[in-house]
Amino acid sequence: METILSIKNLNKRYGSLQALKNVSFDIHKGNVYGILGPNGSGKSTTLGIALNVVNKTSGEYSWFSGSMETHEALKKVGAIIERPNFYPYMTAKENLELVCKIKGINYAKVNEKLELVGLVDRQNSKFSTFSLGMKQRLAIASALLNDPEILILDEPTNGLDPQGIHQIRDIIKQIASKGTTILLASHLLDEVEKVCTHVLVLRKGEILYTGLVDGMSANEGFFELQADDTENLILAVKTHPAVKNVVNEDGKVLVYLKNDLDAKGLNRFLFEKNIILNHLVKRKNSLEEQFLELTKNQ
Ligand code: ADP
Ligand code: MG
Repeated sequence: METILSIKNLNKRYGSLQALKNVSFDIHKGNVYGILGPNGSGKSTTLGIALNVVNKTSGEYSWFSGSMETHEALKKVGAIIERPNFYPYMTAKENLELVCKIKGINYAKVNEKLELVGLVDRQNSKFSTFSLGMKQRLAIASALLNDPEILILDEPTNGLDPQGIHQIRDIIKQIASKGTTILLASHLLDEVEKVCTHVLVLRKGEILYTGLVDGMSANEGFFELQADDTENLILAVKTHPAVKNVVNEDGKVLVYLKNDLDAKGLNRFLFEKNIILNHLVKRKNSLEEQFLELTKNQ
């Protein structure tokens, strides 16, 4: 698997504030990564360091397996980490052509990218007349002009209305489907869930989880139980090897698991201990509950 970006034990201090603590992860070609974390968790700092606009305190990062200088590598990276800014009195097309001129890119790319972001109809409108969503789409088109290996986006839907959010997410999915690697930072769980294949959960500068978005929801779940004799039920259920902990919530016994266990298995186990259940439900935490659980202050 080709590695686009590798980050190892990255630390960042702003004075006395430790914004990143030993952050390590790899970005592989063709995947869509979300850096997910609440505001202030260090997402923008991480992207800023990788893009060489923020100085690291310690640690390492390398682009394309260290095969080229950062300066050269960044020519193959398309990034939008600030509010899009173009010349207000120039049209969308003129703005993109100017970018082509500066970067030595064929003007033919302008139409291709305007099409991708759905702005062909508005190509002759001045940038100053664009909505925030259109400005953001133009910024994406601009970042893609040189067909980068990876597109980096920091909170791409912040401040947009629901329709604008939907359009941007669709465009990101389209870009990904063409094989471009994507790394996006977001504080929105549903954004990462909808758009990304992989997730890095960041809290207070520390990585709490890295892996597949699907894996984040693949926890073992918990049971909700009731029996006439709650105390005996709790004693008995605690002896099962798959049980992590047991909580008595107003007579409802919540049983959290460390290993997989199905309802039939638990029912039989308790029946053999002479406990007859009058309520048994197996539940899973929603992804949202897990994210809150992962990122809440301990
Ligand atoms: P996020 O993008 O996840 O919201 P940031 O990377 O912007 O988080 O910020 C991480 C932490 O570092 C926050 O506590 C923030 O206040 C602090 N921080 C960010 N930039 C600076 C800066 N230039 N000077 C001082 N502190 C900063
Ligand atoms: Mg940020």
